[in-house]
Amino acid sequence: MNKGLVLKNSRIIGENEISDPIDIRIQDGRIAGIGKFESSNPHDLCGKYVCAGFIDIHTHGGYSSDFMDATEEAFDNITRFQIEHGTTTVLATSLTASKQDILNFLACTRRYMNLPPKYARIAGAHLEGPFLSLKGCGAQNPRYLMDPEKDDFGFIIDHKDIVRIVTIAPELDKRGIMTRALTQNGICVSGGHDDGAYPEFMPAVEAGLTHLTHIYCAMSGFGTKTGVRMMGLREFGLWDDRITCEIIADDVHITPEMTKFILKCKGADRVALVSDALRCAGMPPDGKLYTLGSENDENALKVKVAGGIAVLEDGSKFAGSITSVHEMVKKLIAAGVSPIDAVKMGTSAPASVIGEKDAGAIKAGFRADLCVLNEQFDIESVYRSGEKII
Ligand SMILES: [Zn+2]
Repeated sequence: MNKGLVLKNSRIIGENEISDPIDIRIQDGRIAGIGKFESSNPHDLCGKYVCAGFIDIHTHGGYSSDFMDATEEAFDNITRFQIEHGTTTVLATSLTASKQDILNFLACTRRYMNLPPKYARIAGAHLEGPFLSLKGCGAQNPRYLMDPEKDDFGFIIDHKDIVRIVTIAPELDKRGIMTRALTQNGICVSGGHDDGAYPEFMPAVEAGLTHLTHIYCAMSGFGTKTGVRMMGLREFGLWDDRITCEIIADDVHITPEMTKFILKCKGADRVALVSDALRCAGMPPDGKLYTLGSENDENALKVKVAGGIAVLEDGSKFAGSITSVHEMVKKLIAAGVSPIDAVKMGTSAPASVIGEKDAGAIKAGFRADLCVLNEQFDIESVYRSGEKII
């Protein structure tokens, strides 16, 4: 356990205000109190900002590795990329691949979670697919798609101890059977990569779907599908208060104005920033091709860095981002979103999506996962469970 530590004169970016300089006392990896403390081990932050460590619930890779590589080395590289960008908690995120590759990913995630954390902590897995729609699969490999009405989803339930989110195309779950089975096992079901129209996705919603995967990206919207203009999943998600959503606020997938529109509909506590970062995150934009998903999958698609994001090899589709949650927070603040709301979207909002009860805010009893930021909101240091990692 860590020895006690006091971060003196911290300006805490909290849920409702930025505090005057105050002390944060840390003991045994947790926040023991907020106030004025004497300590044998003080660290004076001289009025710098402190926020909770960022939480990224949808991220695939970085530093040349993808979670689908399913090796300890890959998990090390990605979690190091994340903590260097202020993210202390991540969900290892799969993509649509062969069932065996997904099982290998899940086995590695479980193994890695049992090791002492080196960098960002893995809080579980987010399965992005394979139960997605052909039309809405985006950069997900269509050859591996599965159907909730026809294919067995029991392998997900078998991993309910580590699976936190499953992205499905909700209109495919026509009777809500898969959604109900997952939610009854404590798994958050998220809609995305769909081709639905209201009310096709309502059985899944009534069965417990509460979240949307990167809203506006690979998602159905208002349009004519049945002869009448019906709302798509985007509009439904903005309208219905049961639903939280992810956004990739890298100024390309979603522009700042679009983020403000989404915030006006949902409020910052229902919108989680996600990096959706790929293997090429943290790598130079030199035209090099990177594998989307596992290096061992000979059918895997290739992506490259272009225009500040990752695109498919032929440039035809956005494949994911190369932007960390912290960089999104900075972009939003620069665009006029309040630091309180921007930080909330990177901390407490994603924590509530996955039911993390002791992370995502600076409160007594919470894990001492903290980012120290300077006046420009750049990262100065990062603490995971009270231990200074950066
Ligand atoms: Zn993704």
